[in-house]
Amino acid sequence: MDAAKGATKSVLYEAIATCKSCQGRGTKSGKKRDVCLACKGSGVRSLSVASGFRMQVTCDQCGGKGTRISPENRCPTCGGKGQVKERKVESVDIPAGAEDGMRIRIPKKGDDDSEGLPGDLIVRLRVTPHKTFIRQDSNVFVEAQVPFHTAILGGSVRVPSIDGDVELNVPAGSQPNQQMVMKSRGLRKIGTNYRGDQIVIFKVPLPK
Ligand SMILES: [Zn+2]
Ligand SMILES: [Zn+2]
Repeated sequence: MDAAKGATKSVLYEAIATCKSCQGRGTKSGKKRDVCLACKGSGVRSLSVASGFRMQVTCDQCGGKGTRISPENRCPTCGGKGQVKERKVESVDIPAGAEDGMRIRIPKKGDDDSEGLPGDLIVRLRVTPHKTFIRQDSNVFVEAQVPFHTAILGGSVRVPSIDGDVELNVPAGSQPNQQMVMKSRGLRKIGTNYRGDQIVIFKVPLPK
């Protein structure tokens, strides 16, 4: 029903955020990064390969930065990484007519990159099936119990719809599994005023 009518949902998630204690520097206040001893500040190391050639690879001790933070100078909050994982809550507007698998992008609510710039949060919707309504694109199928006498003589039955129960005319001589189309009682197509139909399937119990 939330997907049919639209809703606001909160999502709880973890995102990488710039460490507030050190502003992403990774150092304790007043402390500095040291030159990486493994690469002497160049960020690369040369490696012998089997053929006798040497090749340059990114320094594995400093990740190519050329500097490192000695353990005693590391920011205690982030352990020197400059980033922390944060639990966040964001409210997401689900549009009426939302479909299973649909993605909603929320700008700047994702992981921070190494420069501290925020990425986007992408929420993928899982729409759970409904007990009464069966969806097919923007159309909705629903079964209605029609008493035997009503099917023969005609009359009306109350049927559920996504807008609530509605009265539906049953023509005289209606057959079991006959379908009736209720125009524009289905789901909205996102971004349009178009609504699909509700298709009612008559279930007529036959007397023994
Ligand atoms: Zn290094
Ligand atoms: Zn920190």
